[in-house]
Amino acid sequence: MTEAYPPRGRVDRERIQRAVREILVAVGEDPEREGLLGTPRRVAEAYEYLFSGLREDPLRHLQVGFMEDYRDLIIVRDIYLASLCEHHLLPFIGRAHVAYAPRGKVVGISKLARLVEGYARRPQLQERLTSQIADALYEGLGSRGSLVIVEADHSCMTMRGVQKPGSVTVTSASRGIYREDGALRSELTDLILRGREI
Ligand SMILES: [Zn+2]
Repeated sequence: MTEAYPPRGRVDRERIQRAVREILVAVGEDPEREGLLGTPRRVAEAYEYLFSGLREDPLRHLQVGFMEDYRDLIIVRDIYLASLCEHHLLPFIGRAHVAYAPRGKVVGISKLARLVEGYARRPQLQERLTSQIADALYEGLGSRGSLVIVEADHSCMTMRGVQKPGSVTVTSASRGIYREDGALRSELTDLILRGREI
């Protein structure tokens, strides 16, 4: 059965609990043993939170902006990011660096963090997450251009030994003036990445 997408209404916790119980049985565990009794419920609660971005439009965080005669450049570095990869439902954790050149409208730093969270709390791909944030800052906010760089550690790679722990995947997306002008883009990329390892 195909569910409506994007979903409406509340997360079906009961259904998650049944599914988690099934997984425990399938791997050979005893879901009735004491340590696991509350696990389906806890997983359901965790998923409800971790996927809450499916039930919101993160663009709403950009609506509360202020008009400012400032056209140069705004960079916010090291926005904490935690998401679940849609291929394995395992976490990828890292940081987003976002930059945009306003066309009059500016938003508060906390709103940028909410924007990142809204897109992160869904089954995600790092590449898509990066593009969605860049699109939001360009089209959603109506800026002259945006550049987003995401650095993340993927548990599905590090936990399964495909890659060594500590390996980081870096993605970037540019829009507007930063897409059109390669020199401007690399200058800004350098600026964002310089000194991030303290
Ligand atoms: Zn994965």
